[in-house]
Amino acid sequence: MKKIGFIGLGIMGKPMALNLMEADYQLVVFDKLGSAVDAVVAAGAESGLSSRDVAAKCEIIITMLPNSPHVREAVLGKDGVLEGAAPGTVLIDMSSISPIVSQEISAELAKADIKMIDAPVSGGEPKAKDGTLAIMVGGPEEVFRDTKPILEVMGGSVTLVGDIGSGNTAKLANQIMVAVNIAGMSEAMVLATKAGVDPEKVYRAVRGGLAGSTVLDAKMPLALEGDFSPGFRIELHIKDMMNALDAAHSLGVPLFLSSQVVEIMQALKVDGKAADDHGGIIQFYEKSAQVEVRRRKG
Ligand code: NAD
Repeated sequence: MKKIGFIGLGIMGKPMALNLMEADYQLVVFDKLGSAVDAVVAAGAESGLSSRDVAAKCEIIITMLPNSPHVREAVLGKDGVLEGAAPGTVLIDMSSISPIVSQEISAELAKADIKMIDAPVSGGEPKAKDGTLAIMVGGPEEVFRDTKPILEVMGGSVTLVGDIGSGNTAKLANQIMVAVNIAGMSEAMVLATKAGVDPEKVYRAVRGGLAGSTVLDAKMPLALEGDFSPGFRIELHIKDMMNALDAAHSLGVPLFLSSQVVEIMQALKVDGKAADDHGGIIQFYEKSAQVEVRRRKG
């Protein structure tokens, strides 16, 4: 079985790498933060010295990094993938980054005959652990076909959306829908609570109807507990929304609701909540209405 290189072993990368090892793939791993690789090395992965070293040892490389500059640095920068990779190597970038940057990196890699697909994910840490992420892919059909068995180890659904960058365009659309959905849930539940109605009962009453959603079922139980530990950090969602606004503005698409939600998230960041889960958007509404949406005792 081919060796796979895995760069970026954070909240998402670590469980994804562990699932690949569980499926008998041999892994060579690297993270800028040395301690991030401990758990996967303890499970049997080889520790690479740099992204370049990982690329020199593997024909397939996965990156799971925060944002566009990190992927650019790990792939095209000093001691990066490009310096170590042989012609024919495939890069699967699973980070959520700007679609434009995916296209730029792919074009640089193509000069050295290195192929690339962008394959960002949705589902968060729980689905990363279960190997049931939704994976949205952009890139050449034959590279998609060849790498699909690897993606299926990490994903419950793996969909080719279009050319390089399309995976990240789909992910931006996903992030807009999630952010606006959480804000809608928050606005509604703060209203119900301040009106004196038990928010848990409102949740139970609406979840089977048209307002029911995966977002509601994932975030409302946590809000009722006041549990905003990440999960998906507000600062990462700000990053995705800024990428969405940039991409939209360059295409001539105004994003009315997204721009409001991103300012709500900015306010939470100023309030010291950047590392909270994005379900913590509800705290902004709670503060402005002076009411807390929590499970009632007894
Ligand atoms: P994270 O911050 O927990 O992990 C990122 C890791 O990358 C860190 O360990 C960091 O040290 C490492 N890193 C940064 N720059 C590096 C470099 N140049 N070389 C090597 N390593 C480097 O982030 P995460 O939550 O795992 O998210 C990763 C990506 O997945 C992001 O793009 C995020 O938007 C996306 N995502 C996250 C979630 C979620 O719920 N956390 C869900 C879907 C998608």
